[in-house]
Amino acid sequence: MRYPIVIHPNEILEKKTVEVTEITDELVKMLDDMRETMIAHDGIGIAAPQIGKNLRVALVEIDEESGLFEMINPEIISGKGSDIDVEGCLSFPNIYGTVERYKEIVVRYFDREGEEYEVTATEYFARAIQHEVEHLDGKLFIDKIIDRISPEDLDNYMEEHQND
Ligand SMILES: [Zn+2]
Repeated sequence: MRYPIVIHPNEILEKKTVEVTEITDELVKMLDDMRETMIAHDGIGIAAPQIGKNLRVALVEIDEESGLFEMINPEIISGKGSDIDVEGCLSFPNIYGTVERYKEIVVRYFDREGEEYEVTATEYFARAIQHEVEHLDGKLFIDKIIDRISPEDLDNYMEEHQND
């Protein structure tokens, strides 16, 4: 099942989410449906508030190679370096802009089996995780944009910066 995406402005996007205390069948179904929703919208990440759920759950799947990361109760426990690159967001159609993020992070989370993981992520993967985890704290990329990039200029920007 695909969820409708919550579009800004909506107060659920600006609320801190509640931690998951139990992995239920309902939660597992929600994870599957979040992925379906993300793929249907060509997203590389999605956070529970974006489907109207006030839960500390987010998915990131930047490409086939890195695969799907389902993160329950994720926390970024460290970050280093800095990197500026362009981002978009399913909740902000046609808005793109450059955002400064850590270049490398360590994120701790639980998967759907309840296993705890600590993963080091770099580059765009690290960026996507930071973007999604901030959703879970009610923080939005729009407040961090350094330069807005119009949808028409997006392809040009990507070409110019692909080796950055
Ligand atoms: Zn977003």
